[in-house]
Amino acid sequence: MTTNQPSAQPLRLAVIGSGPAGVYAAETLLRSPQVKSGELEVQCDLFDALPTPFGLIRYGVAPDHPRIKGIITALHRILDRGDIRFLGDVEFGTDLTAAELRERYDAVIFATGALKDAELNIPGIDLEGSYGAADFVAWYDGNPDYPRTWPLEAQQVAMIGNGNVALDAARMLSKSADELLRTEIPENVYEGLTSARTTDVHVFGRRGPAQSKFTPLETRELAHPHGVQIVMDPADFAMITPEEREAIRADRRREQVFATFEGWLHAQQEREAKGEEPTDAHGGPVQRRLHLHFWHKPIEVLGEDGRVAGMRFERTRLDADGTMEGTGELVDYDLQAVYRAIGYFGSELPGVPYDESRGVIHNEAGRVTEADGEVIPGLFANGWIKRGPVGLIGATKSDAAETVASLLEDLEAGRIPSASDRDPDSILRLLEDKGVEFTTWQGWTALEEHEIGLGAAVQDSEGNPRPRVKVVPREEMVRVAREGQRAHESASADA
Ligand code: NAP
Repeated sequence: MTTNQPSAQPLRLAVIGSGPAGVYAAETLLRSPQVKSGELEVQCDLFDALPTPFGLIRYGVAPDHPRIKGIITALHRILDRGDIRFLGDVEFGTDLTAAELRERYDAVIFATGALKDAELNIPGIDLEGSYGAADFVAWYDGNPDYPRTWPLEAQQVAMIGNGNVALDAARMLSKSADELLRTEIPENVYEGLTSARTTDVHVFGRRGPAQSKFTPLETRELAHPHGVQIVMDPADFAMITPEEREAIRADRRREQVFATFEGWLHAQQEREAKGEEPTDAHGGPVQRRLHLHFWHKPIEVLGEDGRVAGMRFERTRLDADGTMEGTGELVDYDLQAVYRAIGYFGSELPGVPYDESRGVIHNEAGRVTEADGEVIPGLFANGWIKRGPVGLIGATKSDAAETVASLLEDLEAGRIPSASDRDPDSILRLLEDKGVEFTTWQGWTALEEHEIGLGAAVQDSEGNPRPRVKVVPREEMVRVAREGQRAHESASADA
């Protein structure tokens, strides 16, 4: 096997997936002392199945989270430098096979994330009206690979799970569409949300208010939208023991989230004691209610004529060791839609060893391995497809440090195989020959300008121009991007 040594020749690297995990992996390598000192040269191509970069930040972060969406600015700056070549609209496994990649790149880092909903194996989960929150997120974020319309006729909706995705999806279901007009939501999403008939969103946690995975900021945000009343059940809090309260105080995140819940509960109890009408957190009239239910373990989705008609839960409590146990008490709710927000799940990549129980690529410290642990030289993984769908975006940076350290170690030790076709343009010719309409960084820049232009031409409910309006049909995205690419190429040729 010919191997790659630092300084002998540039390292040809392909990164699959242009979300934070992919961009940070490429950036960590390019910022390594070996590259900075000139000891190692890297030629890096960054692929994405979508015509656009930024993965889950563009298609997974809620549109009303501009602070998190703002991470795109940092990623944009990295890709705009020009030392990482973006190639979008290229699907690994179909448009480009593992063998074609290995022929042209010494090393490949898979950073494809996790897009699907984890399964909830209870009776009735496949009834019409039962959805995955990840699919709903992809719809409201305008992912072009998802349907353009979303059924929102249900008045009573359940959200299963107590993580931040449940909060995002519950907020999007309860917030008025007009409040979302100041975001980048696509036109079809605005229209869908405007006609939604939702009156009550019920968020169910299988454990208690002190065991949720919510983060403080995102919890407080639930009460921000106008017209939304938060409803709590005092009985859920009465079960909390002094020992548990002590444990809550020892954990800052838990303490803050719990304090927010208690604040809402006290305000609700005070109002009820005075016999006052419910209001939203701003004192305004209530249009929708958002109920937080704890100690509810999902047992069955109840149906009528093949459609969701309700849901059965078993009430739970913590045993002496702090482990959740069922109480045997069953409780039913009338509902017309059920969303499961119980975590994401990574998808298998053709030809890459996959752990189907965890939805991740088999790996050790980012080195892809066979199921038996044997390392496959030159293949690496980063982000959620490496370690599972947990942790905030920042965590992919430390993850990238580990993966890139493994890569550099293997390179130093001569364990990275050398690609046979070392011409950087060979990949472009291959894609063209196969009729793959790939997009480039210049194409993305053109699409971005187009979206910002669409936003400037319309106004939000307060008369301000919108930041951008996302283009959804895939063909339209590719058309705008490729037109921009051609314009850039002919301008460069003229210069
Ligand atoms: P998560 O934080 O892991 O939460 C999953 C929730 O589902 C937990 O409450 C879990 O309960 C529950 N669950 C799992 N299996 C269940 C079952 N069979 N029945 C009932 N409940 C079940 O996952 P996530 O919400 O998908 O978020 C993924 C990551 O993205 C997290 O790190 C999150 O913070 C991050 N994120 C951040 C934001 C943001 O705005 N900052 C937005 C979205 C996502 P148990 O705890 O009892 O297992």
